[in-house]
Amino acid sequence: LNRRLDGLGTTIFAEMSALATATGAINLGQGFPDTDGPEEIREAAVRALREGKGNQYPPGPGIPELRAAISDHQRRFYSLSLDPDTEVLVTAGATEAIAAAMLALLEPDDEVIAFEPFYDSYAACIAMAGAKRVPLTLRAPSFRPDLDELRARITPRTRLLLLNTPHNPTGMVLTAGEQSAIAALAVEHDLLVVTDEVYEHLVYEGTHHPIAALPGMRDRTVTIGSAGKTFSFTGWKVGWVTADGPLVSAVRTAKQYLTYVSAGPFQYAVAEALRLPDSYFEHFRTDLGRKRDLLGDGLRAAGFEVYQPQGTYFITTDITPFGEKDAYAFCRALPERCGVVAIPNSVFYDDPDAGRSQVRFTFCKREDVLREATARLRRLG
Ligand code: PMP
Ligand code: GLN
Repeated sequence: LNRRLDGLGTTIFAEMSALATATGAINLGQGFPDTDGPEEIREAAVRALREGKGNQYPPGPGIPELRAAISDHQRRFYSLSLDPDTEVLVTAGATEAIAAAMLALLEPDDEVIAFEPFYDSYAACIAMAGAKRVPLTLRAPSFRPDLDELRARITPRTRLLLLNTPHNPTGMVLTAGEQSAIAALAVEHDLLVVTDEVYEHLVYEGTHHPIAALPGMRDRTVTIGSAGKTFSFTGWKVGWVTADGPLVSAVRTAKQYLTYVSAGPFQYAVAEALRLPDSYFEHFRTDLGRKRDLLGDGLRAAGFEVYQPQGTYFITTDITPFGEKDAYAFCRALPERCGVVAIPNSVFYDDPDAGRSQVRFTFCKREDVLREATARLRRLG
């Protein structure tokens, strides 16, 4: 393993899901739903396979039907206008979008400012691009970014701000005011912004606003979305990038040499999914909102300190009330102690002390599963 990948090892999600499989514990670690997305969308994938649509290499930027659907989705929800031919790119999940964006946009030794705790692939992709990650630490209990600290982190080497709202793992959602302030800094310092908005439809308080819509941002912002999250098909690995033509063109150049194209038949199905009526998106959000409350109440009753998320399908907690300090050790032992798997947030910080006692649980599971998991966690007390 080369030095760039030093210390990146196995992702925490693979490690903890393997632990769940090995122990038979309830997996509230890795964020994947235990109920698949809409039946009609699964049927659309089967139909595409049967009709021979996408069984051979689809077009590199994505099939035209899906690019048009992504563009229409951005117009329907955010009044953003994007040319499906030049300003939309289909990727192999948001994961590839992040990788291709970092590889395409960064020079070696460029600095990238990213929220910490950070989604794990950010660190890996910035490292693979030879760039340097500069953390902006989000602190409990609110996890709001300190904008003075952000300003102080910007140096002449800063090239890019890597945003994530709603934020995994904390559930923090940037306010309109924070976004305007961040956008103003990006314009003032001529920075690129890559914004991971895969949880765009999971905002329980307030609404999601893409930063790309703000003044001065259109030609410097790369926005990332994912069908895995929005339609509960994490195994399909269909994601996308939307941005101004030159940025999409740059990201497409990198994508060509990562996967060349993304799986064909699923693209036809996701094109249909993006055209589902507003009621689908509303129901998805209210369903997960209910589960957020169910898991939050259960975790509080079990004795955790719970940081209420405004978005995503994750809850970050603190284990200090149990007299415990080490989230990783806690998560390693949790299946044995009570048959539940969770994720230690400590691995998402550069400074391991910063999130040492934080543990993340997902609530994208059936209600009976969440009830059983919290009943088990009550045994910890
Ligand atoms: N970004 C964030 C913040 C995520 O939580 C995830 C994980 N699902 C991804 C990107 C990756 O998305 P995908 O599965 O579409 O690659
Ligand atoms: N995004 C998912 C999570 O945060 C995990 C996806 C992955 O395993 N790469 O749980």
